[in-house]
Amino acid sequence: MVASCSFSRCILSVLPLASSLLLLACVDSNARVEKKGSAAPFEKTSGQTVPKGSGAEVDAGAETKPSRETAFRETQPSGAHAPLDGTPGPGDDENASESTAKPTNERDDHEAPSFQGKAQPLSDDVREEMKGRSWTKACPVQLDELSLLTVSHWDMEGNVVLGELVVASDVADDLLLVFEKLFELEFPIERMRRISHYDGDDDRSMADNNTSAFNCRRVAGTNRWSEHSFGTAVDINPVMNPYVRGEHVAPPAGRQYLDRSDARPGMLVPGAAVRAFKDIGWGWGGDWRSLKDYQHFSRSGR
Ligand SMILES: [Zn+2]
Repeated sequence: MVASCSFSRCILSVLPLASSLLLLACVDSNARVEKKGSAAPFEKTSGQTVPKGSGAEVDAGAETKPSRETAFRETQPSGAHAPLDGTPGPGDDENASESTAKPTNERDDHEAPSFQGKAQPLSDDVREEMKGRSWTKACPVQLDELSLLTVSHWDMEGNVVLGELVVASDVADDLLLVFEKLFELEFPIERMRRISHYDGDDDRSMADNNTSAFNCRRVAGTNRWSEHSFGTAVDINPVMNPYVRGEHVAPPAGRQYLDRSDARPGMLVPGAAVRAFKDIGWGWGGDWRSLKDYQHFSRSGR
């Protein structure tokens, strides 16, 4: 286990092949990750993301996880999200409930945290949770073809928190790049929970402004599998970026965001956030003509 500095507290993560090594790198609860230039908040070593100045880089050589996985730190109050692969250790509990980051307007370049993200195979628990909710044997992909992404993102209050997405394994690396870019842009995402939390009900997930990816379902009103059924589509902040077809708006609360010229935080409009997806070759539902699906990005463009 390795203890590293979070933005205002200590957390732990497990490195499987270095589990016997305990390294306390956290000095105090006010320690912050130093950002060495806004363009290069971290460096990659053997495919891993290692935060500069956090102390985690001293263990980069001992890390032997698959290349897709990155050094990883919990950045959210405990219990707010699904289990991580970290195990609590000495000094962790007392800081677990502290706030995780300063509000955006109090930060500067020297205090900005680094993006953290990883992709891993679905655990047995996640598989069981998905069965009958977001996945069945009739679905066009198997559970072995999906991965769980865990990424840090900015929320609407200017905190850095963790989110989870189930995606097709063959797009996991590309999506890590996208969420790294969104993080650098400080593009706010209200929440990012696995669709199983909503029993696979996309209407409930959208109404909760939840950002999601894999969900085995048909395109509304058709027999065609949605791109989400393949894990190759992502919906971002659905309330702020609704699906609009004529008078139909989904979710209903998205009506207050129909004026796309009035760009507010979390809204996707042509610009850098949309470009982050286009840079990996994905299409955006905001470009469609017959209808608009502002929340929707997909590999196929559909
Ligand atoms: Zn979608």
